[in-house]
Amino acid sequence: MPRSGQHFLSRALKYYTHKLDIKNHYCVYYGECKTIPCNCNIPDDIDIVFQKNHDFDCAIKTDILGVKYIYLFRDSIINCVEANRRLKEFIKEEKLKNVRHPDARGLEAGSLDKTSNIDIKYDDTEFKNFQLYFDDLATKLLKIKEKWLKVETTSIVIYEELIRNFEYNFTKILTDIDIPINTELIQDTKMYCNPSMVNKKKFTTEQINILNNLLNKRMNKAGKKNKKGAVAAR
Ligand SMILES: [Zn+2]
Repeated sequence: MPRSGQHFLSRALKYYTHKLDIKNHYCVYYGECKTIPCNCNIPDDIDIVFQKNHDFDCAIKTDILGVKYIYLFRDSIINCVEANRRLKEFIKEEKLKNVRHPDARGLEAGSLDKTSNIDIKYDDTEFKNFQLYFDDLATKLLKIKEKWLKVETTSIVIYEELIRNFEYNFTKILTDIDIPINTELIQDTKMYCNPSMVNKKKFTTEQINILNNLLNKRMNKAGKKNKKGAVAAR
């Protein structure tokens, strides 16, 4: 799932494989080869390529030869959209300051999480803007989720669970993608990545209800559309 723990997980995978002497390349897809499997110009001795993709248009094939899939998402769609928006704003600011894109300089999700808007509430104007953003993105994210949860060969990772129980979930990911298990090194990776959830901007119960209602409305509409095979009236 877009921008929700992706930096954290890729950092853990890169560190772990590097320590095992498995040579890895990390492809950000969008700024690079835009091909699956990765078609970047990489040295011959690379053992494994990690590639990110948001699959916004739900177009990725789920059975490409030689490719293993990890689908990472957040339990809470509201938190996911919130994290997405916060990162986008951060990137915009960084661009204004003429700093390279966070992906390019290997920004660590942890450092971003810990410095951003902790425990600040949304005021009315800001919440209205967030609602528009949410309306646009949430349905899209649910469709992506619906697609990938059905793909049995995908390693499914819930971000909150990964943070809560890193050893168990990271071991499961490694097993799913055929990387050898080394329990000591998993502990070491945990120390290095320091998994922790930080409270983000807080929504009031009323705001959460508004967002959930909005989402239900959208999902019902999509359901009706599928049933009748016609576009539901607005
Ligand atoms: Zn590539």
